[in-house]
Amino acid sequence: MSEKPIYFDNNDSTAMIEPVFAAMKPYFMEQYGNPASLHQYGLDAEEAVNDARATLTGLIGAQSDELLFTGSATESNNLALFGLTQAAPKNKHHLITSKVEHHAVLNVMKRLVKEGFEVTFLDVDKEGFVDPDDLKKAIRPETLLASIVHGNHVIGTIQDIKALGEVCRENGVLFHTDAAQSFTKVPIDVNDIPVDLISINAHKMHGPKGVGALYVRKGVRFDRLMEGGPQENNRRPGTENVPAIVGMEEAAKIGCANRDKDNAYMIEIRDRLIEKLLEIPHTHLNGPRGDKRMPSNANITFLYIEGEAILMHLSMRGVYVSSGSACSSIALAPSNVLTAIGLVHEEAHGSIRFSFSKLNSLDEVEPAVEHVKQVVDQLRAMSAFIPAEHSEKEGAGKTFYKKKKSEF
Ligand SMILES: *Cc1c(COP(=O)(O)O)cnc(C)c1O
Repeated sequence: MSEKPIYFDNNDSTAMIEPVFAAMKPYFMEQYGNPASLHQYGLDAEEAVNDARATLTGLIGAQSDELLFTGSATESNNLALFGLTQAAPKNKHHLITSKVEHHAVLNVMKRLVKEGFEVTFLDVDKEGFVDPDDLKKAIRPETLLASIVHGNHVIGTIQDIKALGEVCRENGVLFHTDAAQSFTKVPIDVNDIPVDLISINAHKMHGPKGVGALYVRKGVRFDRLMEGGPQENNRRPGTENVPAIVGMEEAAKIGCANRDKDNAYMIEIRDRLIEKLLEIPHTHLNGPRGDKRMPSNANITFLYIEGEAILMHLSMRGVYVSSGSACSSIALAPSNVLTAIGLVHEEAHGSIRFSFSKLNSLDEVEPAVEHVKQVVDQLRAMSAFIPAEHSEKEGAGKTFYKKKKSEF
């Protein structure tokens, strides 16, 4: 491939944009003070951090002391869930989450189970939606909190967090949402949506890696997890990453100011790509269509072949995507999100996520689709999964692919 690669993996990370880098730059080598220091350099750094805090909280209608900076959305999720459970009264030992969470929530919940908490993992429908009625039914007197992801990182489902939050509020349950994918793209106003904690990061919205934030509604009790200095209102010790925080502020400002325009642009790319890819035989779309889908996400199952093989072949051709499996050291486990919406293992393994940003272009769709078609043809020609009637290869036809297609 001599041309520029086609980067369709923006749900994993995005490119930082020039104005973000420009905003960060002075804070590396010129304004390098520690925000905790009492001299002018320290005060300047502290002001930069607090300005960023005011900007970010302003974008969600919160007060400026209701947000603390962390090192990632993963840390924000850990801080929210461990922080709340540690501070909770003994009788509040039940938690609720969904089966489509990111591992930074799912694995925290699994650990809390080991520590003695009871956790309800809510089912979702075939498009990935949590039903607010299911949430309501799962709530018990001993329920402390519910944590439901806002914009899904695998299949793009945008949950109705207002309805979910209202169920929690009516029943005295704390509500946390992981908004790492949705922040800037889907508006959140904490005066309108009864959410108590929100996790975000910068690198999914054209900001730097290694910085995140956690919104915590005033009055919510939670314990710090690390011991150290009094930074971040005594809740997250350690010197703040000033350049990254300034970059996060700039990225969020630009993202929110251009929301409608950027979303419309991504949706055009998304829908064109989906339409073209579904012309390939034996494919289906995972997740919803229309405005309940993240503008940045398309997820397609290519039956009878392995997603990892598609990914590798596309990578060699300069098209960068993600597959439906989570690599672990011993096995390729299918994504919890794809199995939660009812895909069998073979389907989950044959699924590819294409994810976009405003830096992509409509002109990339056609060459990307052409590469996918060629790779899929090539892999299917070698595939032992293909039932006889679908295969052009001599001698193929042994099938252990049993799932009926009619559900899709
Ligand atoms: C990327 C992502 C995370 C993890 O964010 P990091 O800042 O990379 O730790 C958590 N949740 C969701 C939904 C994500 O997409």
